[in-house]
Amino acid sequence: MLPFSYSKAADAEAALREFSAGAKYVAGGTNLLDLMKLRVEMPGQLIDINGLPLGEVTPLGEGVRIGALVRNSALAYHPLIVERYPMVSQALLAGASPQLRNMATVGGNLMQRTRCVYFRDASYPCNKREPGSGCAALEGENRGHAVLGGSAQCVAVMPSDLCVALAALDAVVQITGSSGERATPLVDFHLVPGDHPERETLLAPGELITAVDLPAPPFATRSLYLKIRNRASYAFALVSVAAALDVEDGTVTAARLALGGVGTKPWRAREAEAALAGQPANEESYRAAAETAMRDARPLQHNGFKIEMAKRAITRALITLGGMQ
Ligand code: SF4
Repeated sequence: MLPFSYSKAADAEAALREFSAGAKYVAGGTNLLDLMKLRVEMPGQLIDINGLPLGEVTPLGEGVRIGALVRNSALAYHPLIVERYPMVSQALLAGASPQLRNMATVGGNLMQRTRCVYFRDASYPCNKREPGSGCAALEGENRGHAVLGGSAQCVAVMPSDLCVALAALDAVVQITGSSGERATPLVDFHLVPGDHPERETLLAPGELITAVDLPAPPFATRSLYLKIRNRASYAFALVSVAAALDVEDGTVTAARLALGGVGTKPWRAREAEAALAGQPANEESYRAAAETAMRDARPLQHNGFKIEMAKRAITRALITLGGMQ
């Protein structure tokens, strides 16, 4: 007998109705089932939402609406995404393996949990897994951990590639719950750990992601996703950059920058974007923006290299885009 109950919901209303304390929604299951095998996640109830009608990518004016159950592989190759938001396609294809991308959903991607080794090993203290128990990473092996947005309670990186691109593109998360529907910018959806690393998103218990909306891409077709990692595939980012750049007559008119691998949440670098506007489109300006982006970075014992790596990745991404104008 399973140590949890399992049911399938046909629509969002049924899913919300069935949800009880300790329940989890499951779709692709690529992260949740792993964590259940490790006994890091032990939900008392699994509600299978694969039957909900949330599997389409549809035009939304000049933008798109991406259903929460769209598989990562389908999204990466969807003509609307390839044409309007190449950075999204690149970010998806830079993540996981083809088999995982075939299963993993967009909603699940937003909800995926950190790959901090101490979080995934119940023999270590971890404030995120067990609030108040401590953080083994602070004095432990923290080469892969965050240099931006950390706290004395947790320094784990949010590992999604897709979310970094979505942050750069001003994506909006559509949410439904027992008290109705609401929407929130993706950059506000994930939370920094502060004193409560166990709280990772602003979803209330039982709330369900239904879609992610992308507004019209003002200049996002000239965009890219650059990912630096330990090996060429099936590895999480040490540093990643989602960037878009608009240049007129040799001057930057607008820029978008978001970072992955360095922050406790997908990290939008708004001050660096502002610093770029009106500057000459050259390496010096790009490097100055990179310095701004990483100004608040705080290294741990083993991850200081990420700060310079991020600056170089930002500069390289912008030089590449500048050459595409
Ligand atoms: Fe846990 Fe966060 Fe510390 Fe990792 S960094 S051990 S997830 S509290």
